[in-house]
Amino acid sequence: MSHSSINEPQRKTPVYGDYEVVVVGGGPAGIAAALAAARAGRSTICIERYGFMGGAGTAAGLSTFCGLHAVVNGQHEQVVHGLADDILDRLQAMDGLNKPHLTIQNQITAQAYDISAFKIAADDLMAAANVHVLFHAFATGAAMADENRIEAVFVETKSGRFAIRGQIFIDGSGDGDLAAWAGVPYEVGDGAGNMLYPSTMFRINGVDPVKAGRAWEILPGLMEEAEKQGRRFPRKKPIVRPQRNPIEWRANLTQIKNPSGTAVSGIDARELSYGEVEGRRQCWDTFTFIKEHTPGFENSYIVEIAPQIGIRETRRILGEYVLTEQDILGCRDFPDTIGVQGWPVEAHIKGDVKFVFAPPSSRGFNEIPYRIIVPKKVDNLFVAGRCASMSHDGQSSARVSGPCFVMGQAAGTAADLVLAAKVTPRSLDVATLQRKLREAGANLGPSGT
Ligand SMILES: Cc1cc2nc3c(=O)[nH]c(=O)nc-3n(C[C@H](O)[C@H](O)[C@H](O)COP(=O)(O)OP(=O)(O)OC[C@H]3O[C@@H](n4cnc5c(N)ncnc54)[C@H](O)[C@@H]3O)c2cc1C
Repeated sequence: MSHSSINEPQRKTPVYGDYEVVVVGGGPAGIAAALAAARAGRSTICIERYGFMGGAGTAAGLSTFCGLHAVVNGQHEQVVHGLADDILDRLQAMDGLNKPHLTIQNQITAQAYDISAFKIAADDLMAAANVHVLFHAFATGAAMADENRIEAVFVETKSGRFAIRGQIFIDGSGDGDLAAWAGVPYEVGDGAGNMLYPSTMFRINGVDPVKAGRAWEILPGLMEEAEKQGRRFPRKKPIVRPQRNPIEWRANLTQIKNPSGTAVSGIDARELSYGEVEGRRQCWDTFTFIKEHTPGFENSYIVEIAPQIGIRETRRILGEYVLTEQDILGCRDFPDTIGVQGWPVEAHIKGDVKFVFAPPSSRGFNEIPYRIIVPKKVDNLFVAGRCASMSHDGQSSARVSGPCFVMGQAAGTAADLVLAAKVTPRSLDVATLQRKLREAGANLGPSGT
């Protein structure tokens, strides 16, 4: 970025409103956080930069919830419950869910959904809980009451700049934006300049489902064969699967690198701009290969390229505990569990995706400790979702939707308890939080029963 600068005139910023709980971001973590806080009776606002909820699940076109299921002693089971069930029920009522399907060489279950239905389901749930949703509001900074307390978050909107005051803040921005502005320490990537690589997702329509059959099983082989003839693809391990209506398929097979080969950063404006164009170029390139070589795709076309490049990892804040790969693969229990998750480590490395599962003989899920949503330094903030306190490898697993719902629900529920008990998140009585989460249907794992 440029080294020159200009001075902005000092200005008074109007206050948009005062809320007990202010949530930044309407992704899986932010939705669950806002719902939990509002259902507990707290005046709650959810600030979202786009005009719809869902986060990467809608804006980056994922259309699959991962991490809701685990392989528990050899059996595929849904292990994440609580608010996630309410979202699934609402989607089911709209006929917006596929049957859960096996993925990654049939090793784990995932749950595909219709993206438009998810947007509407989230709207409905937020309205029913009385969450004040502020769309098209980009949070841009924090006003601090003192070194350790946030007073307000600044937003830029079409009606101008506002401050939104709160008592407790929940950062569900995915990028840890609010936490970073408030001075919470954080890490980016693996410490050696590498982040998980982003992907631009797209959906293909006009597929002949009978002819296409289980095309996802032959596509990797077709790509390998083409590579031997000199064709190049952004990455190995394409994920191309049918949607609710099998004339439509989702395609996850791009990988967005800078010209230097590093991952495009989701917190660098220039790289993001470059990445959007490069992502669409890769969508077209990989689509034309699929169309030309895969039976059933002869008359297909791209029905949508996701509104934004899909960012897997940027800042991960440092909290009271850092969830690691060993915790995930060792199916670790925690006395301060807030829920569970069973997704493998899914590392999007240069040119490939590396999956590492807990041993097949293991229980297949780990507990998630409360301490990973409690950031260091700031006393009225929770950080939930993919930017919570996890190591680079731990986040490669627990960043998916299932655990983000878990963290969000816990953050929103804890926000209510912190306000009621007049304590800081760090000194909250976790047993009370666990009781509330259990009452709301969450599965806390063996340590939380
Ligand atoms: C290409 C790709 C494929 C993936 N595939 C899957 C999959 O199949 N299944 C799965 O479960 N997970 C998948 N993931 C992981 C997915 O990112 C997480 O599951 C999840 O979306 C993270 O949730 P979150 O709420 O922490 O953050 P996000 O989903 O990133 O949501 C953050 C929200 O905050 C908003 N926001 C950010 N900054 C600001 C700001 N400053 N002001 C206002 N609003 C802001 C954003 O617009 C967004 O709505 C994939 C990720 C990528 C990138």
